[in-house]
Amino acid sequence: MENKVAIVTGGSRGIGRAIAEKLSESGYDLILNYRSREEEALAVKEMLEAKGGVVEIVQADVSQFDDAKKLIQFAKKRFGRLDVLVNNAGITKDALLPLMKEDAFDQVIEVNLKGTFNCMKHAMRVMMKQKSGVMINISSVVGLMGNIGQTNYAASKAGVIGMMKSVAKEGGSFGIRANAIAPGFIKTAMTENLPENVREEMLKAIPLKDFGTAEDVANLVKFLASDDAKYITGQVINVDGGMVM
Ligand code: NAP
Repeated sequence: MENKVAIVTGGSRGIGRAIAEKLSESGYDLILNYRSREEEALAVKEMLEAKGGVVEIVQADVSQFDDAKKLIQFAKKRFGRLDVLVNNAGITKDALLPLMKEDAFDQVIEVNLKGTFNCMKHAMRVMMKQKSGVMINISSVVGLMGNIGQTNYAASKAGVIGMMKSVAKEGGSFGIRANAIAPGFIKTAMTENLPENVREEMLKAIPLKDFGTAEDVANLVKFLASDDAKYITGQVINVDGGMVM
């Protein structure tokens, strides 16, 4: 049987990199998207190829409609199919609402929300034709509960949940599943610069009393992408140590 094909957006580092590693090591042919960190993306590719994986890297800014189209079409051209799309690329531009610049709102929406739309839209056509596919959106607990200083980010992450549910409804009869993952506090570059007092406060709100790892998220992606999850669609699943329940 041919390998299944997966795209991971924002796979050059952090959670996206861990997802890329997990899927490649699980036997998927992988398309690893990056925006600016070509060296890191190449390093991931070489590392996974050394383990026997098939990995292509594609530069694309997912917030740009045509870039996203090029990324999805690459899967079709190179492998003839697309089985799994993981919308992981994301940014933050935090500020309290009265201080938040219009630009900070627009940029976060453009990457996190519009970027996810762009990729899902183009992937939907491919998956509808092949009558199968899985889409997984990396949302956030912030999209469920809000957060001080993150009105833009919360809006984008709540938005990707709404889009996922609509895609699950549109795609069900075509054999397409869509789900979202809501990570809590995961140790990556995105969270490493938070002040110590903020980290301590967050820890108090986590029943499991620890921060998560990128691999914790990747493990759930692997499950949701697989046939073990064949009856699961339209769901938001938290990986947050019990932070939101
Ligand atoms: P990260 O370490 O900052 O990595 C972000 C990745 O997204 C990078 O690979 C970056 O690519 C890519 N990216 C950014 N803008 C892009 C664009 N326009 N087009 C394509 N790629 C783009 O972040 P992370 O912590 O791993 O977060 C990954 C995802 O999980 C995000 O959606 C984030 O919102 C979500 N999340 C994270 C946490 C957490 O605690 N860390 C919690 C909840 C949700 P380049 O480096 O190549 O530019």
